[in-house]
Amino acid sequence: MTHVGKVYRPPSEAHSYLLQATIGCSWNRCTYCDMYRDKPVFRVRPLVETLREIEESGRRYGARVDKVFVMDGDALVLPTEHWLELLGALRAAFPGLRRVSCYAMAGNVIEKGPADLARLRAAGLQLLYMGPESGDPATLKRIAKEGTFEEHVEAAVLARAAGLELSAIFLLGAGGVERSEAHARASGRLATAMDPRWLSALTLTVVPGTPIARLEERGRFVLPDVPGLLQELRWFLDEAHPTAATFRTNHASNYLPLAGELPRDHERLCGVLDAALQGRVPLRPEWRRGL
Ligand code: SF4
Repeated sequence: MTHVGKVYRPPSEAHSYLLQATIGCSWNRCTYCDMYRDKPVFRVRPLVETLREIEESGRRYGARVDKVFVMDGDALVLPTEHWLELLGALRAAFPGLRRVSCYAMAGNVIEKGPADLARLRAAGLQLLYMGPESGDPATLKRIAKEGTFEEHVEAAVLARAAGLELSAIFLLGAGGVERSEAHARASGRLATAMDPRWLSALTLTVVPGTPIARLEERGRFVLPDVPGLLQELRWFLDEAHPTAATFRTNHASNYLPLAGELPRDHERLCGVLDAALQGRVPLRPEWRRGL
């Protein structure tokens, strides 16, 4: 397994085979993101090299691999034919393969369109991780996120119609103190409209050297304090009404790990949050948090 630079994957892919099919992120502009600064120039890893790695890993790990996460930042940007070669090779190399997933940006999903998404699904791509981070247009613009509220909904509708599962990720604190409630409530509404199978919230960590850190230094961005971030989660849940989603805030960046099914556990999750807001639930200490 060869990886260039730092590797990022969702918590739920902790036991997956990580295949690096692209290097970096083709967008690489989000103001809070430090993930691929060590790989500032996005490139596609040569197909022949990736296929060789899959073949070798198949010989080495074979039936032990049941999940594959295709990296880096937005691997769905790869041309459909390139993806089909990868998926075919993965099926051949790993006979016990149950799931292939990747990060995806709204624009990539829309550009693929219904026919190509269906071909990818039929070839074994199963799950897309999409991170709109916010549903608030002003916040989306400020953090330079790719895709609008409407484009994320369009992408989600296309992906679901093709039979792909969606995991949608939102970022507490992304709107700063100024947009806190608008950001949280609009994010909940976007979660409802995207109607993902998996839904999660992370908490923004301002990383030194990022554009948002420079705004913070100049007093032009203020991250809500811990009660403010918990309140955002409460507002988010007020508005988030997916049909049937597993909701988690177990990412290391969060102060309060929650897990439940929506809508079934809505009341219980809100109850835990209200107790936390009243100081009756212990929070994850700062030293145990991570990006
Ligand atoms: S799309 Fe994702 S990986 Fe790319 S810059 Fe934005 S947050 Fe970072």
